[in-house]
Amino acid sequence: MIAYEVIYVILISACLLGLNCRYNGGNNLDKELMKYLKDKEYVIACPEQLGGLPTPRNPSEIVFGDGKEVLDGKSRVKDNKGQDVTMSFIKGARETLKIAKLYNVKTAILKEKSPSCGNVAIYDGSFCGKLKEGSGITAELLKQNGILVFNENNYKENI
Ligand code: SF4
Repeated sequence: MIAYEVIYVILISACLLGLNCRYNGGNNLDKELMKYLKDKEYVIACPEQLGGLPTPRNPSEIVFGDGKEVLDGKSRVKDNKGQDVTMSFIKGARETLKIAKLYNVKTAILKEKSPSCGNVAIYDGSFCGKLKEGSGITAELLKQNGILVFNENNYKENI
């Protein structure tokens, strides 16, 4: 009988590994995380790009509540010019979930504070740099599908 090894793939926010997919065209390169992933299997995704948003793009925030309220149709995502970009954020979350399922992802390390990837705190919708507790839309959808979601600050003690 052949024994197959189960490979656990970790999903990573693309900007944490240096892809210039942030709203301002930059990245959030995390060299510690890169070192940590050296001997691991991982896949990267940027939900906002997967949702069809351009780079660079206007910054966006969840108006009230968090990703759960957006997925439940009770809140919206707006950019700093007041444009409603909710559907792009939801599409990006769903596309990211598809990738996670394709690679049998059980764990994700996503960028904190983002309206897509944030998973402990997100910006509060005022565009004043203030935070509130909660998850971004992609982080919430992954959690609802049984994936453990961490961020660049807390993955080491949890994975
Ligand atoms: S959506 Fe996520 S991966 Fe894309 S730039 Fe924002 S934090 Fe990074």
